[in-house]
Amino acid sequence: MIINRTLTFFPKRIRISLVVAAVMLISGCNTTPEPRLPNIIIIFADDLGYGDLGSYGHPTIQTPNLDRLASEGMKLTQFYAAASVCTPSRAGLLTGRYPVRTGMASDKNRVLFPDAEKGIPADEITIAEALKEQGYATAAIGKWHLGHREEFLPTQNGFDYYYGIPYSNDMDRVRPGTREEVFGNPVFDSWNVPLMRNNEIIERPTDQRTITKRYTEEAVQFIRTNRDTPFFIYLAHSMPHVPLFRSEEFENVSERGLYGDVIEEIDWSVGQIAQALLEEGLAENTLLLFTSDNGPWLAYGSHGGSAGLLRGGKGMTWEGGMREPAIAWWPGTIKPGSVSEAITTTLDFFPTALDMAGAALPQDRVIDGRSLLPIFRGEAGARGHESFYYFRGTKVYAVRNGPWKAHFITQWAFRTGSEPTEHEIPLLFNLEIDPSEQYDVSAENPEIVDRLKIVYQEAIENVTVRPTQLDARGTDE
Ligand code: MG
Repeated sequence: MIINRTLTFFPKRIRISLVVAAVMLISGCNTTPEPRLPNIIIIFADDLGYGDLGSYGHPTIQTPNLDRLASEGMKLTQFYAAASVCTPSRAGLLTGRYPVRTGMASDKNRVLFPDAEKGIPADEITIAEALKEQGYATAAIGKWHLGHREEFLPTQNGFDYYYGIPYSNDMDRVRPGTREEVFGNPVFDSWNVPLMRNNEIIERPTDQRTITKRYTEEAVQFIRTNRDTPFFIYLAHSMPHVPLFRSEEFENVSERGLYGDVIEEIDWSVGQIAQALLEEGLAENTLLLFTSDNGPWLAYGSHGGSAGLLRGGKGMTWEGGMREPAIAWWPGTIKPGSVSEAITTTLDFFPTALDMAGAALPQDRVIDGRSLLPIFRGEAGARGHESFYYFRGTKVYAVRNGPWKAHFITQWAFRTGSEPTEHEIPLLFNLEIDPSEQYDVSAENPEIVDRLKIVYQEAIENVTVRPTQLDARGTDE
C-alpha cells in the first residue's frame, strides 16, 4: 500500500511492474546468495632477487604497494621457485610438479629458445585447465616460455586469453655488440621479440618500454570484465629480466638506477591490480600471490638484482638462485602482518588453487606441492614441506630437510667451461643459523649428513624424469 501510494504519479501498468520489481528485490535479499568461488591472481616477476623489495630488506628500492600487501597479508620467508631458470620454474608453478616430471628440464638446453620445436606436453594439467573445469575465466598475461608454437601456447593450456611475449625478452637479438653496448642502455628494437594476443603476433619487435604498463592494463581489464565470474589471472612480467625497460613515468625515479626504476614500475602495477580488486569489491574474495621465477642474474652487474643475504643467484642451486620473496594478500582470510617461515614453494600453487576451487587433485600422477590454505588461514598445526629438492636440469644438486641443506653437486650458473663439482661428503649448512651458506658444518654433523643422504636418494628415486621437450630445436619461427 505504501509503495502503491508513493507511486501514484506513475501510469498504472508501470506502477504494477515497479511493485513486482520491488517485491522481487526484497525477496531476493532474503535468500542467501550462492557463495562464489574465490578468484586467484598470481603475479610472477622474472629474475627478481630475494633482496629486491623494501619489505625484504632493500635499502633504496621503493616498493610501497608490495610492502603494504605484505603488511596487510602474509610474507613467506622460506619460499622456493621450482627451478633456478625460467622454463622449468614456470612449468613447476603451473603443474605443481617438479619440472623433470613434465619434461620441461634438460641438461643441454636450460630453457626453451626461439627455435624450440616443443613445449609443455598436452597431457600435463595446468592450474588454468583445472580451474576452467570449475567454471573459472582464465587469462595468461606476460611471459609464457613453455612453448611458443601454436599447440603449446596458453590458449591450448587452459587459458581463455593470452597477451604477452611468449619467451624471454632478450631472445631474437638482432643488434650485434658487446653486452655493455647492447644491454647497457638498451634500445627496444635490438630484440625482435613478438607480442602476441591469443595465437596471433600483434607487434614485432615489441616496444618493451611500455610492456609492464600494457600487461597491467590487460590484467585490470580482465578483472573488470570478469567481476561476476570466478577468475584466474597468471600475470608473468617480462621484467626485471634483462634488457631492462620501463615507461616514461618511471624514468630515473629510483636511487637504485635503471633496475630500481623497473622494480618500482612493477610495484606500481601490483598497486593498480589491488586497487581494481578493491574498487570492484572483490578483494575479500581474491587471493593475490606475488613472487619470482628465479634469483637475480648476477652476471649482468647492476642490471641484475640482489639476493640479499643469500648466496648465489639465477641458474644456481645456492639459496640465492631459488629462494624468492613471496607475498600473499587475501583480506579477511589472511591475518594482516603474518609471516610464515614454513618451507613452501611455487609447486604449492597448483594444489592451493584446486583447494580454493573445491576441486580434487588428479589421482593419476604425482603432485609435489601441497595446499597453502592451512598456512594462509593460520590453522594450528599448519606446516610446510619437510624436504625440498634443488634441481639443476634433470639432476638433483642439493636437498633441504628441516633447517639443513646438503649440496651434493655445486656449479657456477652459466660461465663457459663451468664444470659441476661432485661432493662425496656433501657440503652441509644449517639455513636457520647460516642462511648465507657460508659455514660448511658437515664434519661436525655426520648423522645429519647420513640423514640428508637418504633424502637425496629419495629425491633421485622418487622423482621420475620424463624425456625432455627442451632439446628439439629446428629453425626460428
Ligand atoms: Mg627468470
